[in-house]
Amino acid sequence: MRSPVAVLLVIASAAGFGPGCVADPFGLAGGTIEWQVRESEHFVYHYQADDPAAYPWHNPMELPDGSLFLPEEHTADESVAVYLEAYETWYSGLADLFGSGLDERVAVYVYSSGTQKLWLGQSASGGAIDVQRIDGGGPAVHSSTGVHSHELVHVFQSQHVDAPVVWMEGQAVALGDGWVELIGEGPYFSRSQRPNLPLAGVEGHGIPYIEGETTAGLVFFPVHRIAAMVLGMPDPEYELLPEHVHPDMRPSSMTSAGSTLTVEFALPYALGGSLVHYLVLTHGWERYIEVLGRLGTTTMAGEDTGSVFRDVYGVELEQIEDEWLSFLESQPSEFWDAPVSVIPLPEGS
Ligand SMILES: [Zn+2]
Repeated sequence: MRSPVAVLLVIASAAGFGPGCVADPFGLAGGTIEWQVRESEHFVYHYQADDPAAYPWHNPMELPDGSLFLPEEHTADESVAVYLEAYETWYSGLADLFGSGLDERVAVYVYSSGTQKLWLGQSASGGAIDVQRIDGGGPAVHSSTGVHSHELVHVFQSQHVDAPVVWMEGQAVALGDGWVELIGEGPYFSRSQRPNLPLAGVEGHGIPYIEGETTAGLVFFPVHRIAAMVLGMPDPEYELLPEHVHPDMRPSSMTSAGSTLTVEFALPYALGGSLVHYLVLTHGWERYIEVLGRLGTTTMAGEDTGSVFRDVYGVELEQIEDEWLSFLESQPSEFWDAPVSVIPLPEGS
């Protein structure tokens, strides 16, 4: 859920609006876009091959197996086949992780033109999910990239678990948001779709990346490095804009009932992504999935965050956070020496 639109959708469904009151932020009901459609076992893929500027036909992508796919060497049809195969790889890994697949096939909509991208928060790399569709169909992923694993993680979450935003975005970032490379002047990026944590059927894994505003411009960092900066730890090279620095913020303070929206939209991505990646790397998936399943937010039955972590991990969440802070302070070279992508500030700013 990368755009404000997605957050509104979640709020709308969580508030329990009745049938007939569904959002249509992507204008699908009017049928204004002539989609080409290709289907696989678990996906119905909507795209437009006739837009020469579209991301999926030009920009390299690191696939789940770590190989680099260069769409310019392929026809649109061939590229869609590769993207669907990558989605299917993610699907089987996520089905294994969450314990079962999805009830319905996932509709994927790949937007290409500038006007369409406005629906995605004017972001070339943004995406959103839609679980309450105007046409009554199954869950949908809306994106401008050929594959968008972060959003597919949310689709699986939407049918299996229901935890506060920081733990849901944390998992989506920790698992699905990979290395981003600036291609020329942009605005497009090569975004890795390689899982950053162990996932069934995928060999090895990559590093989670997210972007942050620094004094040098917009920078795509490994998530642990940007989390350290958000928490006010000195970085050897970059400085986050001061309004993004929150030394006293912790994931545990973002998870009390009713406080799923925090002081800054990006905090659940940076801090949640970093802590979840650290937690799963050190303690494995099983316990984290149990935590997610027990932290319900839309029913009064949701358990207290502290007691869930204490019960599952055998220690207080604050102690886990202290260990995570020590890990960040040690600036592990795997993450601090990893390359970053910089989009410089515009001239004169
Ligand atoms: Zn998200």
